[in-house]
Amino acid sequence: MRPNLRLIDMWYYRAEDLHKRLGKLRRLGLDSTPEAKRLRREIKALRRKVYAYLRDFTQKRAHELVMKAIRLRAEVLIDDIIEESRRELIEEKIPSGLRKIYLAETRRFIKLFTTQLQWYGVPYRFERLPSTVCPICGHKLIQERGRVMVCENCGFKAPRDKVPIHWAVKYNLSLRHISVG
Ligand SMILES: [Zn+2]
Repeated sequence: MRPNLRLIDMWYYRAEDLHKRLGKLRRLGLDSTPEAKRLRREIKALRRKVYAYLRDFTQKRAHELVMKAIRLRAEVLIDDIIEESRRELIEEKIPSGLRKIYLAETRRFIKLFTTQLQWYGVPYRFERLPSTVCPICGHKLIQERGRVMVCENCGFKAPRDKVPIHWAVKYNLSLRHISVG
């Protein structure tokens, strides 16, 4: 599940463009013209759209996931990657305004999610699920083009975003093993 990032980008950059145009008008002393007012209104509406979209997405997905966990009688592992994702967002050169919104919404998601899990009594815990260490042999993974992670030691290969789920499966298997043994 991921939000439509392209749509968000589109709204965000459109608002940035209009903001630049508004700055130009301001420097020309045309601050209170109908044109400037229209720009301000449009910028505000676009920014509100980004927030509203992400809020709605966060809320719906958190609830969906909780319901899924109940249905599957699952224990939930949460890989809260705030620090790592912040660094990744910087690496990917996402503008700071957008980065702030993404991180705030990620935090909000975790808060909503854990509160609801508690409410329904679904067991959960936070677990670091690495995306740069091989889940098969523990070797360091090398990133190839297109965010594909490869292990030179055992040949494991997976998209970067899918590596953590291999770790989750591995943890789950070892938990089952413990409960059986
Ligand atoms: Zn390996």
